[in-house]
Amino acid sequence: MALTLIKQAGDGSLAPPPVAPCAGGGTIYAGLAKRFWPRVRKDEADGCWIWQGSRTAMGYGRFTYRGKGIRAHRAAWMLANGREFPSGLICCHRCDNPPCVNPSHLFLGDHLTNSRDCCAKGRARAPLGEQNGQSKLAESQVREALLSKEFHGTVARRLGVSMYCIYSIRRGLTWRHVFDAVRAGRRS
Ligand SMILES: [Zn+2]
Repeated sequence: MALTLIKQAGDGSLAPPPVAPCAGGGTIYAGLAKRFWPRVRKDEADGCWIWQGSRTAMGYGRFTYRGKGIRAHRAAWMLANGREFPSGLICCHRCDNPPCVNPSHLFLGDHLTNSRDCCAKGRARAPLGEQNGQSKLAESQVREALLSKEFHGTVARRLGVSMYCIYSIRRGLTWRHVFDAVRAGRRS
């Protein structure tokens, strides 16, 4: 796939999205943009803008903002919107591509959005696993995800769900009954 460096506005054809003026925060965002966009490459095949800096274990870009580590796609959202990331919300990918920082591929969501996005929650009171109509996975696939030693992303791609979905399954946040059964099976 062809990768093109996204250049700073004024010195190339691919300018970053305009940074909206922000009361009191203009200088901060200008400085942020200067550090941020040179570390992004545009993937022309799918329109994703791929973070070239370091990444988390989940594949999300890592960026430092005000001395704190934040996910790069959150920084991209702040640059595109000219304001701080709203607390209590999460930054979701339409493209399901964790290192992507293209603001047009990002949307605000809550944890409910994320659970709808991937797989059924196997929590108390919610219908379990496959009986939950929102579930995209069969129990055998969840088992496969739990037993496999592959990366989250590899399994996610094969099963057609998001990496967050596989992560949640492996942490026992969803499909808890299968998680417990597999763990019990390992011990015996
Ligand atoms: Zn994308």
